[in-house]
Amino acid sequence: MSMRIGIGYDSHRFSTGGQLVLGGVAIPHACGLKAHSDGDVLCHAIIDAILGALGAGDIGRHFPDTDPRWRDAVSTELLRHVISLAQTAGFVISWIDSIVITEQPKLAPHIEAMKSSLTAAGIPPGCINIKAKTNEKMGFIGRGEGIAAQAVCLLTQSFRG
Ligand code: MG
Repeated sequence: MSMRIGIGYDSHRFSTGGQLVLGGVAIPHACGLKAHSDGDVLCHAIIDAILGALGAGDIGRHFPDTDPRWRDAVSTELLRHVISLAQTAGFVISWIDSIVITEQPKLAPHIEAMKSSLTAAGIPPGCINIKAKTNEKMGFIGRGEGIAAQAVCLLTQSFRG
């Protein structure tokens, strides 16, 4: 049985106004994230982890920010598309682990909602973990300039070739 792993990373700068969306969940906060899409760093890191495991390049190749089709894109819809690519290639998502790194807001109260939202976008139930950390006040995250996320994905071949 073939297994593949992939890694994903994303970061976005906070912008005044706008809505903070993480894992498809709107989270109350004073500022949103500057981006071509909804700036959902967690979704974007997960998408890159899945594409990495598929050997299918990266999020910029599949959803170029020069393409008006993806302007103000809902990232969970991009995730749904990438999961369908994995299924078409004969893979299922066996596990995703992820980290969102930010000083504010506190994300622990929102983790279960994020997991439900990502499951609704096509990640198999019970196959995702989300961790939230601060950066101990160091660097751009520590200064509150933005948010970063990391993810790994394990894909397993869904049929025997
Ligand atoms: Mg991004």
